[in-house]
Amino acid sequence: MKDADLKKAVRQHLEMEDFFTGGFTIRGQKAMREQVETDEFADDVAKELEKLAAEVRQCRKCGLGSLRTNAVPGEGNPKARIVIVGEGPGADEDAQGRPFVGRAGQLLDKIIAAMGLKRGDVYICNVLKCRPPGNRDPAAEEIISCLPYLQRQLELINPQIIVAMGAYAARSLLNTNKPIGQLRGQFHEYYAGLGRPPIKVMATYHTAYLLRNYSPENRQRVWEDMKKVLAELDLPIPEHGKK
Ligand code: SF4
Repeated sequence: MKDADLKKAVRQHLEMEDFFTGGFTIRGQKAMREQVETDEFADDVAKELEKLAAEVRQCRKCGLGSLRTNAVPGEGNPKARIVIVGEGPGADEDAQGRPFVGRAGQLLDKIIAAMGLKRGDVYICNVLKCRPPGNRDPAAEEIISCLPYLQRQLELINPQIIVAMGAYAARSLLNTNKPIGQLRGQFHEYYAGLGRPPIKVMATYHTAYLLRNYSPENRQRVWEDMKKVLAELDLPIPEHGKK
């Protein structure tokens, strides 16, 4: 039996039970129904994200479309409470079509693990879905062309927190020109749609910047930012990071 058929059968069974017990659904059944609904919702989001990714892979809205090897739409948990947004793909990402897989990605994996999470718990993407040649800074018109894809991803996933890594991610999401040093370390707000509550944005240094400018102070700054994210989500702060 296919996954969708199985969920449908479980839901029908629960509805029937509910009917025959006059609506006095026992707690376990209610939780089970909620779980089925949550899973169905995640399946729908995953499908919409895949449709969007297919659109990105065909996109030629800016000049980067004809220069890429692979577009890098993003990947991760469609139910993620945290979405991590970087600047754009580098050489490794362009070669593999996946976000944050080079050295900066390996450092991000370590940060995620230090937070007590797995890569599969979060969603990871970039402002730009195609690599600027030679890893140059994104041009304003490229960001303007590409931003609707990120906006749609955030609208679909609707996370509790967005971690904006680096100046381009933070400035694009917060519509500001302030330097990352001023933006990091505090929560900002991002509006994913009319009538929706704002999503909190934690700006921090990009892992590529950390690799280029490694110092215990910069490393500690990023960790302090991530501890605020964990605290905001009521998640435990791992012992090694409490000091
Ligand atoms: S960078 Fe964005 S807007 Fe430009 S071609 Fe790639 S997907 Fe399209």
